[in-house]
Amino acid sequence: MRNNIDGHFLLIGLMAYPIRHSLSPQMQNTIYSKLNIPYVYLAFEVDQQKLPDAVKGIRALGLRGSAVSMPNKQLVCQYLDKLTPAVEMSGACNTISNDNGVLTGYNTDGIGYMRMLKEAGVDIIDKKITILGAGGAATAIVVQAALDGVKEIAIFNQKDECYPKIEAVAKKLNEKTNCKVHVHELADKDQLRKEIANSTVLCNATGVGMKPMEGQSLITDPTLLRADLVVTDCIYSPRKTKLLEMAEQQGCKTLNGIGMMLWQGAAQIKIWTGEDSPIEYVKEQMGFND
Ligand code: NAD
Repeated sequence: MRNNIDGHFLLIGLMAYPIRHSLSPQMQNTIYSKLNIPYVYLAFEVDQQKLPDAVKGIRALGLRGSAVSMPNKQLVCQYLDKLTPAVEMSGACNTISNDNGVLTGYNTDGIGYMRMLKEAGVDIIDKKITILGAGGAATAIVVQAALDGVKEIAIFNQKDECYPKIEAVAKKLNEKTNCKVHVHELADKDQLRKEIANSTVLCNATGVGMKPMEGQSLITDPTLLRADLVVTDCIYSPRKTKLLEMAEQQGCKTLNGIGMMLWQGAAQIKIWTGEDSPIEYVKEQMGFND
């Protein structure tokens, strides 16, 4: 526990509901302590009703910024002064920076995913990703990948409320970037096989593989996973999902959601403090190497 907090420390918030289970306060404060920088990160229970006042509070109290999580990621955009292109395209913000009262909204989830690939030595620029999912995580990844120069993205999702939303995002990306983005029904197994066959990376960005769907995988046929395919899962608990287990058995390089989580947090810290995060140290402190 830090015992040197004085009147110069700056506060960074996390506005979400529910939020008490979040790993972010521990992760962020571990980094601030290690870097010996005067910041403190605290979680606030903020639902959609409280959100407008909470955002006013960022300005009134002079918070350095705030993280934003469910259910506020979309709603918060309308209360901010500026949005990055990724937030404009995805319609979701997970990070607010307060620069002398001007609030800018960022989305670091996609940044975290792309950085995780880079750090793992996976070059995806000018190549193709197949992604399973169309919710918050998938949308952030698809948008950032398209902005960063991925050549093609094939998205597969069940026909639920996420489907028309990701179709609208895909349309925008096709108009505004050089990336070719297309959306398919998850039930179309022939198309899925075809798209994975010429992808460099396969990404699961659904909850299938974690509780209450632990032990399940949207890919059931291991022959879809050729040895030179990189298979990633946004899920970090369990560390090895059924999909990653299958991929490992096929000889694929696999990456779980820990890297995405760590690097999205590091991107937030860069925005708020300008500092680079000691990733290996955090992994060790948070028990992520186990
Ligand atoms: P979400 O609720 O916004 O989206 C859920 C997605 O899963 C949708 O595409 C939905 O259609 C799909 N889905 C749900 N049940 C399904 C089923 N039975 N069959 C097929 N598809 C199904 O959730 P989200 O915020 O996008 O999170 C998705 C996953 O990514 C979660 O496991 C979450 O823990 C993880 N995540 C990880 C990070 C990270 O930093 N590693 C960040 C955000 C989310």
